[in-house]
Amino acid sequence: MYDFAYHKPSSVADAVKMLAADPDAKAISGGHTLLPALKHRLNRPTALVDLSGIAEMRGISRAGNAIRIGALTRHVEVETSAEVASAIPTLAYLAKHIGDTQVRNRGTIGGSVSNNDPAADYPAAVLGLGATLHTSKRRIAADEFFLGMFTTALEADEILVAVEFPIPEKAGYAKMRNPASRYVMTGAFVSKGPMGVRVAVNGAGPCVFRQSAMEAALSANWSPEAVAGIRQSADGLNSDIHGSAEYRAHLVTVMAKRAVAAAG
Ligand SMILES: Cc1cc2nc3c(=O)[nH]c(=O)nc-3n(C[C@H](O)[C@H](O)[C@H](O)COP(=O)(O)OP(=O)(O)OC[C@H]3O[C@@H](n4cnc5c(N)ncnc54)[C@H](O)[C@@H]3O)c2cc1C
Repeated sequence: MYDFAYHKPSSVADAVKMLAADPDAKAISGGHTLLPALKHRLNRPTALVDLSGIAEMRGISRAGNAIRIGALTRHVEVETSAEVASAIPTLAYLAKHIGDTQVRNRGTIGGSVSNNDPAADYPAAVLGLGATLHTSKRRIAADEFFLGMFTTALEADEILVAVEFPIPEKAGYAKMRNPASRYVMTGAFVSKGPMGVRVAVNGAGPCVFRQSAMEAALSANWSPEAVAGIRQSADGLNSDIHGSAEYRAHLVTVMAKRAVAAAG
């Protein structure tokens, strides 16, 4: 580690001021991604702006046909929320299968979505449900939020405050996970509801993406068989020691079938 300043604001407005005043400052929520990066000196911010004292970024509530989850909400809180379980049980299922107990007790939905790791779980739910991202300065549709590997539409002094998920008629999630890290090798989040039929794929490519051929097939016939014959191209998919691009492409079809079956 090395020296850096530490700030703990109690409002979104103050946090934004601190980030705007220093272009090399970074926001920190659960720290489960950022702290390891600091320890390995992959990231060297001059200051950390700790968001954990900001009450307005906490909590889960139902507003009409949507569930709003504050960005500071930890994975375990989504996993065990009665509101989430009754409205979007697949989201509780997804949270329950992130990392391990330690990760779920510290990691936050806001940190995960802002970080946009290609192998993270929440980006699939955000894109697969057509959520709206509420930030310190605007609302961003999921389709405009995830721009590339570890890149989102958030600006340097912009904070993700909450995620609003429309409640679907049906939703399902399936993933093949790395047995050691538990990060996603390839996953698929499917839903049918106010945002239409959506299929979001995570883990396979540099950034979560929608699978439009599967969306068209499921719009005509919502069943696992509808996607069984659809092949994902391996072009541009991730290839590493854990699996080739071709393997991940194959998994897209397998995970989509399982996700539709889980959705019922
Ligand atoms: C061993 C291990 C296993 C894991 N396995 C999984 C897994 O299976 N699936 C999975 O999805 N994740 C997994 N994770 C990641 C975990 O879910 C993290 O919690 C998550 O990636 C980041 O959340 P955080 O709150 O810890 O963010 P932090 O580490 O605090 O921040 C991460 C990044 O987001 C930025 N940031 C944080 N909050 C905000 C905000 N509100 N607005 C704007 N920017 C913000 C920070 O500046 C930083 O760049 C794992 C992590 C570990 C250590």
